[in-house]
Amino acid sequence: MFVLRFDVESAYALHPSIESDENWEIWLQETLASVKQITQVLNRYDAPATFCIVGKVLERAGDDLAGLLKDNPLFDIASHTYSHMGISSDAPTVLRQFSAELEQTSDLIARYFGTGPIGFCAPGGFYRGLQGHPKQLAILSEQEYQFIITDGIGPPEQPMPAPFTQPYWYVEDGYPELFEIPVTGWHCNLLFNTGHQSDSWKPAPGFADGTVLETLPATIEEGFWARRKEFQYAIDRNLVYSPAMHPWSVYRFDPELKHIQWLIEMAQEENVPIMNCHQLYETYRDLAAAA
Ligand SMILES: [Zn+2]
Repeated sequence: MFVLRFDVESAYALHPSIESDENWEIWLQETLASVKQITQVLNRYDAPATFCIVGKVLERAGDDLAGLLKDNPLFDIASHTYSHMGISSDAPTVLRQFSAELEQTSDLIARYFGTGPIGFCAPGGFYRGLQGHPKQLAILSEQEYQFIITDGIGPPEQPMPAPFTQPYWYVEDGYPELFEIPVTGWHCNLLFNTGHQSDSWKPAPGFADGTVLETLPATIEEGFWARRKEFQYAIDRNLVYSPAMHPWSVYRFDPELKHIQWLIEMAQEENVPIMNCHQLYETYRDLAAAA
């Protein structure tokens, strides 16, 4: 299965400290241009995708995003918090803020898209997701989230690329109905270095099979080769492939999004189903119910 998911947070998430109306205008311009390009590609290939949207972006560009994404059966809208906040701390102030930001963002999604989200994607990503984080799980469960995307990096000794952890239920943590859809492989920002987060990259294991990535991809073709290697690894093992993609970031690297088109073509040629997170959740839920 190939799961397409885009975190819509704008380049704001790189520089939240320089937030201003002026900068938001620049960030949103890039966000809307990139989401528009993504929807054109997805519509052309009839490929579903989930868009995890930050409340601050919706507040400023809700109508534009609804114009691109609303009432299209291919697209699913999930919450990405209101401010792209960190959620891993158990401090009472952070937990209160987390709960409030979920409500606020859910209201915004309902306002612009007609219904609230059942999916949540954590800003950043954690090793083993929210396993061992009962307070955050309790908040998500209380607010009736059904699937979450929080498992997104490897162990501290090698956080990137994320391992191919497969979707799971939070049974051991006491939330057997909460479904995790881990991110697999590289985060686009880091692989394509679109926000200069990987400037100091040195040759290191860069793929799930342990192969070394000598240098980060410099061209669209090289970017696709890296993604293709990840996807082929998943196809060969019948695994879910769910890479992290951010509209601003994939668009900076590849304005026509050719590497995403080639990945979609690869899925279609190999008869690999393409799903959004909502569809993947329902598939697993129905399989569990039938078992
Ligand atoms: Zn994010």
